[in-house]
Amino acid sequence: MSDIIRVLSDVVANQIAAGEVIQRPASAIKELLENSVDAGSDRIQVIVKDAGKLLIQVVDNGCGMSENDARLSFERHATSKIRVTEDLFAIRTMGFRGEALASIASIAQVEMKTKRTEDESGTHIRVDGSELIFQQPVACNNGTSFSIRNLFYNVPARRRFLKSTSTELKHLITEFQRVALTQPETSFSLHHNDYELFNLQGTGLRERIIHLMGKQLESNLVTIQTKTSIISIKGFIGKPEKAKKTYGEQFFFVNGRFMKHHYLHRAVMKSYEAILPPDTIPSYFIFFDLDPSHVDINIHPTKTEIKFDEENAIFQILQASVREALGKFNLTPSLDFNQEGAIEMPVFSKDSNFNAPEIKVDPAYNPFSQQSGPYQPKPLSGWENLYPQRDDEPKQEDAFEKVEQGYFLQIKSRYILTPVKSGLMLIHIRRALERVRYEEYMKQAEQKDFPGQKLLYPEQFDLNPIDLAIIKDLIAELKPLGFEIEEFGGQSIIVHAIPAHSGETDVQGLVEGFLEDYKNDTLDLQSPLRDKLARSLARVNNRVGEKHLDHHEMKSLFDQLFACNNPQTSPGGKTIMTILQSEEIEQRFL
Ligand code: ADP
Ligand code: MG
Repeated sequence: MSDIIRVLSDVVANQIAAGEVIQRPASAIKELLENSVDAGSDRIQVIVKDAGKLLIQVVDNGCGMSENDARLSFERHATSKIRVTEDLFAIRTMGFRGEALASIASIAQVEMKTKRTEDESGTHIRVDGSELIFQQPVACNNGTSFSIRNLFYNVPARRRFLKSTSTELKHLITEFQRVALTQPETSFSLHHNDYELFNLQGTGLRERIIHLMGKQLESNLVTIQTKTSIISIKGFIGKPEKAKKTYGEQFFFVNGRFMKHHYLHRAVMKSYEAILPPDTIPSYFIFFDLDPSHVDINIHPTKTEIKFDEENAIFQILQASVREALGKFNLTPSLDFNQEGAIEMPVFSKDSNFNAPEIKVDPAYNPFSQQSGPYQPKPLSGWENLYPQRDDEPKQEDAFEKVEQGYFLQIKSRYILTPVKSGLMLIHIRRALERVRYEEYMKQAEQKDFPGQKLLYPEQFDLNPIDLAIIKDLIAELKPLGFEIEEFGGQSIIVHAIPAHSGETDVQGLVEGFLEDYKNDTLDLQSPLRDKLARSLARVNNRVGEKHLDHHEMKSLFDQLFACNNPQTSPGGKTIMTILQSEEIEQRFL
């Protein structure tokens, strides 16, 4: 038999590398932004169409490239950032692998214009799927501009794998934020389709955080600063009472590069122990600076995970540093955090009365409940009237055997137990309610548009930049679903109408809840918006944790559930009911 091993062509090798480096438009943006930063730019503009699926354009005013370098930059393992192995242990640039441009150019149509200050004219190059289409001189500005069109145009399987525009946009904004946070003094802008999402002037870190993450952080940032022989730590942490239920404002940067670090995240969480409202995560923007030789950045191909030599020591230092900042904040609550740098301790004279810092936070406080103070469940009276019995519809009980008698028992406020022919059925109450409501909404939606319910007083409120970008994109699509939303400039929107029967009085909560679900909807990304909305409304309405149901309510829920098309699983795909078989019960008494 003849030999069968072959060396892969560059094109194939690049496409394989692209599989690791470029997963989606956001990864291409990250690489291009990092290159612009490495090139010393102080102004970087990003323009994207359809969340980068159609077009990604990055324009910088950095050092530019010579004619030769311009061509070489698209070669695999071509980098100006390292030369010898030793350089690997002193990396201060964002990139160094020399793979990004080769990877991007293997799976997209790429154009680049670049010019150094000292050169008369610049270079214009086009590469489609690793193939050089042309290279010619061009008159252009100093710096470099890239346009990446039709990402994955030649890898249809991967193009199909791309998520909805809003999901891709969310990833893209996240990468943009990560880079923009590391370079506060550089101006950045981001345009998506016809909207300007960000226009950030060069500034200090505190202002950059607020411009990027939203005004709500303005009163929430506490300075953190510590310097030791192995590491220096600085940045901002959020006040405990402003902590959120979802992730999104947790950032570690190591030597100017965004990093994920689960262990150090635990250090932060430990420092906040006992002062956070239940199930919340504080915001943090923490920058570590240390000798690059004590960091191993090779652990992950996209380089967002990292290993430190002295992880345990750093854990301790970080924890102490966060605690100190929290303590100071509590000691001087009226302090103006506007200035950058460490907070100054008040000076105590020898005989002044010194009170040790004491952290006072009400652990029962829940920022997400309407009323402050311990959570009080809403009375449930009348909820069943919202869903009148549907006698006209065929019941689907056959699949589950008829109930022998009308006994219902509520267990742990969460389940209904009821005897059926083959044993004992357990029903998950919250999921059952979700299913019932979801099918109600879907039924309304099938007939025609979701009816909207005009608000007596339109509500205006701010959204964070990612939510705002997503909602802007959805305004037209949401209208037939009952939401009437209008942009109001800045970070504000006005809501004129919400879906009827959403049973929600907290309009902002409803919109934010929907956006949260929408972003996290991993179940079926291709499903139409109205399905997602119905699912979300069903869930938002079920925020009440525990429900005490009387016999009549249990029976009514049971009947409604079995009138559903799919009584077995919740709209989110979770099990609603299970049967403890008679044989199983018998077995237990053998
Ligand atoms: P790496 O960043 O790991 O070196 P890349 O493939 O991202 O690899 O880029 C290859 C080389 O192209 C870089 O090392 C740099 O010399 C050059 N380059 C890329 N983008 C720019 C830019 N925006 N401005 C100047 N030079 C750039
Ligand atoms: Mg790079």
